[in-house]
Amino acid sequence: MKIGIVGAGIAGLACAARLKESGIDSVLFDKGRRPGGRLSSLSVDGRDWDFGAQYFKPFSADFAEQVARWQDARLVAPWPHGPDGALVGMPTMGALVAALCQVHDVRFSAQVQRIESDGLGWYLSGPGLCDGPFAGMVIAVPAEQAAPLVSLHDLDMAREAAAAKSRPCWTVMAGFDEPLAGLPHYIRDSGAIAWASRDNSKPGRGPHECWVIQASAEWTQAHLEQDREAIAPQLLAAFAAETGATLPEPAFLKAHRWRFGLSYGQRGRTLWNPRLRLGTCGDWITAPMIEGAWRSGVDMADQVIDTLAPGETRAAG
Ligand SMILES: Cc1cc2nc3c(=O)[nH]c(=O)nc-3n(C[C@H](O)[C@H](O)[C@H](O)COP(=O)(O)OP(=O)(O)OC[C@H]3O[C@@H](n4cnc5c(N)ncnc54)[C@H](O)[C@@H]3O)c2cc1C
Repeated sequence: MKIGIVGAGIAGLACAARLKESGIDSVLFDKGRRPGGRLSSLSVDGRDWDFGAQYFKPFSADFAEQVARWQDARLVAPWPHGPDGALVGMPTMGALVAALCQVHDVRFSAQVQRIESDGLGWYLSGPGLCDGPFAGMVIAVPAEQAAPLVSLHDLDMAREAAAAKSRPCWTVMAGFDEPLAGLPHYIRDSGAIAWASRDNSKPGRGPHECWVIQASAEWTQAHLEQDREAIAPQLLAAFAAETGATLPEPAFLKAHRWRFGLSYGQRGRTLWNPRLRLGTCGDWITAPMIEGAWRSGVDMADQVIDTLAPGETRAAG
C-alpha cells in the first residue's frame, strides 16, 4: 500500500519526495486545478505574476542543499533585483511546484472532504473522489483546513490545528503597457502595502510590466469580504497613494484573496500518530515560509518511515 497525502504544496511534496527516497510511494490529492498551492503563479499573454510566495532564501544547511539541487536543475535562480540572496522559481514560482509534482502521482481537482480508516488502511473521499486503502495518511493543508479532516480521528491533533491561525492576504496582479518609471523593483511594509514587486524584474519572466501588490494584514482584514472585482482597483489606488506614483490605466488587473495565507503561532511539534498512522504537516507547524513547509514535510516523512514495517509499502498497491 502507498501513503495518501492530502495537499500538494511544498509540504506535501517534500513529504512525498523524502518517502520516495526511502522507496515508499505516495499518492497526492490537491483540490487545486493546477500545481502551486501558496506558490501559485498566473501567466496570461506572456505576462507572469507570482501571486503567493515571492521569493525565498535558505536559512538551514539541509534546505540550502535542497535549494542547490533545484538550482542545478534550473528550477530556481537568483533574483538580483530582489532582496539580498533572494531566489525564485523558474520561470515562475508555480513552475517550481509543477516540476516537483512530475515525479509523483498527483491528482488535481481532488478535494478531500473525509478520511476514514477501517483499521487496516485509510480511505479518502470528496466530490467525485473515493480512493484507498493507504498505509498511512498525511494531511498537508493549512491548519484551518486540516482540523476538520483529522477531528474525527485524533482530538489532540485537531486541537493543535484549531489553535494555529492564518492571516488572510488580498493580492492584486496588475499589468501595464509601459514600465512604471521611478519605482524600485520591490517595496515592503509601506502603509497599506505589505509587499509590492515588479515581477518582470525576476529572471525568466516575460518583458511586460507586471506588478504583484499584497495588502497589509490590517487592510486585508478591513476589506476581507468584499468582491475581488471591487478590491482590485482599491488596492491599486492604495499602492499609488503609498508610492506617490501616477499610474496609467492597467492593461490587466485581477485580485486574489488568500483566506489562509500567512500562518502564525507555530508550536514546532511534529503531529504524527503512529498508532493511527495519521499525521499533519505544513508551514503552520514549523515556520510561515517555504522553508518551514519543506521542513515540516520532510520531518513528517521521517516519522512515517520510522513507523512502517520494513517492506510494508514497497510492494505495488
Ligand atoms: C501572499 C503570500 C505571500 C508569501 N510570501 C512568501 C515569501 O515571499 N517567501 C516564503 O518563503 N513564503 C511566503 N509565503 C508563505 C508560503 O507560501 C507558505 O509558507 C508555503 O507555500 C506553505 O506551503 P504548504 O505546503 O504548507 O501549504 P500550501 O502551499 O497552502 O499547500 C496546501 C495545498 O493543499 C491543498 N488543499 C487544501 N485543502 C485541501 C483539501 N481539503 N483537499 C485537497 N487539497 C487541499 C491546497 O490546494 C494547496 O495546494 C507567502 C504566502 C502568501 C499567502
